Amino acid sequence: MNILVINAGSSSLKYQLIDMSSEKVLAKGVCDRIGIAGSVIKHKTFDDRNVEKEIEMTTHKDAIAALISVLTDKELGVIKSLEEISAVGHRVVHGGEKFFKSAIITEEVMKTIEECVELAPLHNPPNITGIRACQQVMKDVPQVAVFDTAFHQTMPKKAYIYALPYEYYNKYKLRKYGFHGTSHKYVSERAALLLKKPLDQLKIVTCHLGNGSSIAAVDCGKTVDTSMGFTPLDGLAMGTRCGTIDPAVVTFLMNKEGLDTEKMDAIMNKKSGVLGISGVSSDFRDLDAAIEEGNELAALALEVFTYQVKKFIGSYACAMGGLDAVVFTAGIGENNPKVRRMVTSALDFMGISIDEAKNNQRGLEIDISTEGAKVRTLVIPTNEELAIAKETKKLVG
Ligand code: ADP
Repeated sequence: MNILVINAGSSSLKYQLIDMSSEKVLAKGVCDRIGIAGSVIKHKTFDDRNVEKEIEMTTHKDAIAALISVLTDKELGVIKSLEEISAVGHRVVHGGEKFFKSAIITEEVMKTIEECVELAPLHNPPNITGIRACQQVMKDVPQVAVFDTAFHQTMPKKAYIYALPYEYYNKYKLRKYGFHGTSHKYVSERAALLLKKPLDQLKIVTCHLGNGSSIAAVDCGKTVDTSMGFTPLDGLAMGTRCGTIDPAVVTFLMNKEGLDTEKMDAIMNKKSGVLGISGVSSDFRDLDAAIEEGNELAALALEVFTYQVKKFIGSYACAMGGLDAVVFTAGIGENNPKVRRMVTSALDFMGISIDEAKNNQRGLEIDISTEGAKVRTLVIPTNEELAIAKETKKLVG
């Protein structure tokens, strides 16, 4: 059974074709600059028959047609025809309060996803366009929506209600939703396998640290709290996002600098985080290089970030009333031993301590704790595409 995974953005569309019998990626790629001059498809196959070619793609439908044509191409292809695609799994950012798990796409489901546009105006519209394009090009293939927010729908009300007038929750569904749910779910399930314990007996803090970063408290396989909120701006300081700040700072800065909402939004989303503090970069590799050269603000940015991650681990251990494992995942979590060291330093008192040699390994699913550590610290590479494909397989049978 082959499943096509689609992650549609406003001008790009990423895809992977996965053979579910072996979980092998047959081909993957990206259609870039959709609707912009110079649109291009970059396609990689499992056996390195890679290609990058300019194809005119004015709509997402053109992009789907283009990727189907390379997937089935005589020379570059990995399948003979569309019939070899059993189902399509779509990443959908926001499922609001309606979706607490993935869903087979029907017109009713589409209507509900459309209702969630208000909650994710930048993300849901391109996701919808991607689904519609697939429906047009692959009429008879079942489609599944896998939501970033769904895994966190198990949060209790005390964790997701903001202390604002309650009418805004009723009126606008203004509440914490959380994101990266597919990744938090995937790594918490892998953690249980690695620890050889049932997931429903484990208290885990999962740290998804990438350009966007979020942390989740996963108690017995269910999210009980998470750091992102109504939007993915909340929680940790990130590459370019400010994360949690005193809300009064927003009106203060708008008044002082004469900023409108759009400009304020851009500052908080695109000019803040470790980029904002350091003035160097949003990429942690650049920060590390700048720190090597003695850049104090880069060092401060790293301290702010790792201090915040540490505080979330502590607060979520309290929220769950215990802790069995901490998981590091995503670009930084998987590849940056220094971040893991700084986050876990001086946490012996709560049973967390890591082995320096194990911590310095890369690209592995590994337990990096010291021998007798009460709380296990794990590095688990995330795989959101495989997680989406697995969800899709589960639903279409
Ligand atoms: P996104 O949220 O866009 O998916 P990623 O998960 O790719 O982001 O994370 C990007 C961050 O991960 C960057 O700050 C980068 O420094 C770090 N990163 C990614 N790959 C590596 C690597 N191989 N070595 C060191 N750092 C990496």
